[in-house]
Amino acid sequence: TMRESYASENDSGFKCLKPDLRPVVVVGGYGQLGGLFCRLFELSGYEVRKLGSQDWDRADELLADAGMVVVSVPINLTEAVIAKLGNLPEDCILADLTSVKSGPLQAMLEVHNGPVVGLHPMFGPDIASLAKQVIAYCDGRNPESYQWLLEQLQIWGASLNRISAIEHDQGMTLIQALRHFTSFVYGLHLAEEDPKLEQLLSLSSPIYRLELAMVGRLFAQDAQLYADIIMSSPQNLAMIKRFHQRFGEAIEMLDSQDKQTFKQAFGQVEHWFGDYAQHFLIESQGLLRQANDSTHR
Ligand code: NAD
Repeated sequence: TMRESYASENDSGFKCLKPDLRPVVVVGGYGQLGGLFCRLFELSGYEVRKLGSQDWDRADELLADAGMVVVSVPINLTEAVIAKLGNLPEDCILADLTSVKSGPLQAMLEVHNGPVVGLHPMFGPDIASLAKQVIAYCDGRNPESYQWLLEQLQIWGASLNRISAIEHDQGMTLIQALRHFTSFVYGLHLAEEDPKLEQLLSLSSPIYRLELAMVGRLFAQDAQLYADIIMSSPQNLAMIKRFHQRFGEAIEMLDSQDKQTFKQAFGQVEHWFGDYAQHFLIESQGLLRQANDSTHR
């Protein structure tokens, strides 16, 4: 399968598209996502250096001959860290992996006059390979000098999605902030209701188990990362407040036992999903069959 072929390619290394590149310096390279990208660059034959939080006293030395600098530090520190990168070689590519894009991209363009590109890998460090994973990217400056990088990411298996930083951050309001926040609240609710998790699971059909897994996996990850993502913009908070308001309005239907309004609203959403409703029913049946197979293994 495709997944297996990428995995085996991973062991033996990847084709190197820019063999003459000077060292790649990953700021935050000892962290989760930075570490993953360090391994991928190394597997492709690039010379990789890590610049960790304790390394700033020798930063000039690490950065002096950098061919590319990739910033992967906690979101709330990102712009301050980028501001310290004012001394890069003119032709050095400056990139970042931050989950938000407008602020970091602006900061990179301000501090560096050479090529700049913003990347957002839409996955965490727990993936086995980049096959079928999406990386969103925002052009910053001199795109011709980092086309090879975009192609290198594709060689690793990623599929690339070009978007403006503003549109990206708007999209993430729904895709990340609202979704993570509703998972967070659902988890909080479960913890306070305190049902017996094992009993819940034993009563669960595959779809509820999958839903529990989607919520539970959040809490196996870094609280700071999710706090930063959810609170990264006022738009996120405004979106979450609109959701909260709709939740309240929907509860009014329940309070008044108003099944008529419920059915009208149901029809409105069904209409909005259009053909996708049927597609999603079929797609989820396939996913559930797979989930079912793997939990009974
Ligand atoms: P992490 O905490 O695992 O890694 C961050 C690293 O930065 C740590 O090693 C930390 O010591 C280091 N660091 C802190 N301050 C520093 C400084 N001043 N100079 C140099 N290094 C410093 O976090 P992570 O999950 O790898 O996230 C890093 C970036 O990746 C974030 O911008 C995040 O938005 C992005 N990202 C993460 C995920 C994910 O699921 N983890 C997914 C997509 C994007």
